[in-house]
Amino acid sequence: MTFKTGHQTGRIGIMAAMPEELQALLDVMPDESVERVAGREFWVGHLHGREVVAVLSRIGKVAAATTTTMLLSHYGVDQIIFTGVAGGLGDGVRVGDVVVADALVQHDMDASPLFPRFELPGLGVSTLSPPAAFTTMVRDTVAQVLSPAALASGGALADVHLASLNLGLPQVHQGLIISGDQFINAAQTCRELTQALPAALAVEMEGAAVAQVCHDFGVPYAVIRTISDRADDDAHIDFPRFIHAVARHYSLAIVEALLQRG
Ligand code: SAH
Repeated sequence: MTFKTGHQTGRIGIMAAMPEELQALLDVMPDESVERVAGREFWVGHLHGREVVAVLSRIGKVAAATTTTMLLSHYGVDQIIFTGVAGGLGDGVRVGDVVVADALVQHDMDASPLFPRFELPGLGVSTLSPPAAFTTMVRDTVAQVLSPAALASGGALADVHLASLNLGLPQVHQGLIISGDQFINAAQTCRELTQALPAALAVEMEGAAVAQVCHDFGVPYAVIRTISDRADDDAHIDFPRFIHAVARHYSLAIVEALLQRG
């Protein structure tokens, strides 16, 4: 697979999974205007001098794939940044940490016995990866944004009060994110998923669909997820409070840093 290389002047698609994350972004875009296409609102404008199209991904693989296709074929973006929250699966992946995907699998894709479990029929692979250099740049940027020094200095993250939420300093992980049309909130399901896909660090509902569309178009993409829950029996309890208090601040700071970096 060859990816086109992003360049400074190109349009960047930003997909937010949560309305609060999108709003945080729109609040700092000076000139955005809304266009309604395919039942979605696309916000076209600039941020830090870069041309940006921001949109709510919508929940689930089909919705996210459609949004991605629109960004690529209707708006012609030449890279996509996806931010959202996810359930933590891997050991040591805690609530408040951030996972940058270097591989994505659709955990509910199963056309066996015609194809091996997880394999994407027609593509002949089960795992898709963004270009390694792009992922490294994203991971390094995220690590810088969430470094202890950056957090201590306030700035964009001054409103995040980790201690009051019983959260430690965020760790940045790079690895496998798995996606499926299911909100995982049972310890037993987590065990089954990690047994089948031991490298999985996080589970969510869109990333691997975005990856598949970007793969088909040959466009680089980043899937960046803040861990909102451990996908276990308490998953639904932690959710809304976490997005408001932490995730939307992280995603804005991360997107801004990525735009400034190139
Ligand atoms: N509470 C939300 C619904 C969230 S659905 C609402 O009221 O609209 C869960 C979203 O967060 C999806 O976008 C998914 O990608 C992500 N997510 C977070 N934790 C998850 C988990 N444990 N399992 C699956 N998806 C999760």
